[in-house]
Amino acid sequence: MLGLMQNWPLTVDKILDHAAKWHPDVEVVSRSVEGPIVRTTYKQIHERAKRLSNALAKLGVKTGDRVATLAWNTARHIEAWYGIMGMGAVCHTLNPRLFADQLCYIINHAEDQIIFTDLTFVPILAEHRAKMPTVKHFVVMTDEAHMGEAAALEGALCFETLIKEASPEFTWGGFDENTAAGLCYTSGTTGNPKGVLYSHRSNFLHTLVTMSTDVMNLSARDTVLPVVPMFHANAWGLAFSCAAVGAKLVMPGQKLDGASIHELIESEGVTFSAAVPTVWQMLLTHLRETNGGVPTMKRVVIGGSAVPEAIVRAFKDEYGVEVTHAWGMTETSPLGTQATPDAEIARMPEEERLRYTLKQGRPPLLVDLKLTDDAGKVLPHDGSTFGKLKVKGPFVVGEYFRGDGGEILDQDGYFDTGDVATIDSHGFMQITDRAKDVIKSGGEWISSIEIENIAVGHPKAAICAVIGAAHPKWDERPVLLVKLKEGETATKQEFLEFLEGKIAKWWTPDDVVFVEEIPLGATGKIDKKLIRDRMRDYVLP
Ligand code: ADP
Repeated sequence: MLGLMQNWPLTVDKILDHAAKWHPDVEVVSRSVEGPIVRTTYKQIHERAKRLSNALAKLGVKTGDRVATLAWNTARHIEAWYGIMGMGAVCHTLNPRLFADQLCYIINHAEDQIIFTDLTFVPILAEHRAKMPTVKHFVVMTDEAHMGEAAALEGALCFETLIKEASPEFTWGGFDENTAAGLCYTSGTTGNPKGVLYSHRSNFLHTLVTMSTDVMNLSARDTVLPVVPMFHANAWGLAFSCAAVGAKLVMPGQKLDGASIHELIESEGVTFSAAVPTVWQMLLTHLRETNGGVPTMKRVVIGGSAVPEAIVRAFKDEYGVEVTHAWGMTETSPLGTQATPDAEIARMPEEERLRYTLKQGRPPLLVDLKLTDDAGKVLPHDGSTFGKLKVKGPFVVGEYFRGDGGEILDQDGYFDTGDVATIDSHGFMQITDRAKDVIKSGGEWISSIEIENIAVGHPKAAICAVIGAAHPKWDERPVLLVKLKEGETATKQEFLEFLEGKIAKWWTPDDVVFVEEIPLGATGKIDKKLIRDRMRDYVLP
């Protein structure tokens, strides 16, 4: 027997409909790519997104067609998202930090028909135009006055002109909630990038989960600054969840340095923000240099890579900001776990509680985790047994776009994250390492991440990375690479002494190498693959 409640497909256009109807005047403030701060509201965004749907329909876009965006976080980008998804087309977010060849590969693989682009990326698109045969138009996200040389790009259209000339009457939705809504490629640290194809339903469910109290705890009283880009795993869903709760949004555009972020936090009264650790490191450095503060900020979510203890302490002790650590990946929409305390952890003394904050946390409803050994045998949740982390749920990838990579779920329907982790008795998961970065020494595993995070707490260190170097007896041994802060000098011994007592003795790096640069990949994480390439000829002392 079926229930007799209303049939109301979970499609994301309803989220913006809700915001426009019930939070019409809540502001969305952007640092525009042209420069000035621009203010709009959910009501205006809704109307302009509908106009865009009309414009896209006129350009021949149909349900299921891929329409890409190559853009910073701005209100225009939100308009493009909802305009594309609302009409049943697929919004493919392109990451501008990828190399041009990878971008072209992805555009062709997705067969993007139209690319919405910020002015910033017009030169790179123009240079590689010939390699994107499926693309018919580029919608340049600016007004006529700023089109300039962009007008010369073959197939270029002006965003504001399209909006001006289109009707605001458009009926969104009306399709199955399992219809594809978004497409995001993994950054391809192994092999070619693979596409994760989100559905309306998966995005809608992810929204409901992320806005809940024990996850991001979003409300209509928040002013939210998504520093995490919309092209990096959907800005962790904030363009949906903020509209869903009616939170004010502050979109930082292309300026993600400490000073620019701080200026927005102060001028707009930001209460909540989300970004990878490197962004917060830049903000903290800026605050210290300028004796600044962030009195309105209450919470930040940090994820994408492990949050160093020094960041959590600095936020809490110096600025009164609570840090929630979260883990996820493009394949999980992206939220998988968050480290909000349960009742027992909340009662612990502060130092003990901190140990849990530094873990990646526990899964919310609709995410399930398991740990297995190489043979697939389930491992215990004892906080010390390492295993492969596998994940299951309605917003976890089932297969990659176009079947790339073949069957990716195990027989019980779990996806292997490629991470190695432990789970403790509170259900708190802790990432030990990425399976491909973990250092295999004498048949045991060493966590490169853990050593890095401790080493970076050295007062002279700007950024640290640990990789495994080939060893005749132990297979691999850890090597610590250190980029020092501007103007500092240090010895290997200083770093080895700093690690002493903080890690197991046999984890101590066999060498410390001081480097000018530690490369970051397209999502702002340390690019271990590139480091390993650069260190190919390195031999342990
Ligand atoms: P990509 O894999 O393309 O770099 P993702 O954002 O999808 O981009 O990366 C997901 C991976 O990032 C996870 O599998 C995990 O290894 C790592 N990661 C994400 N959040 C954390 C975190 N809080 N701590 C440690 N690692 C993390």
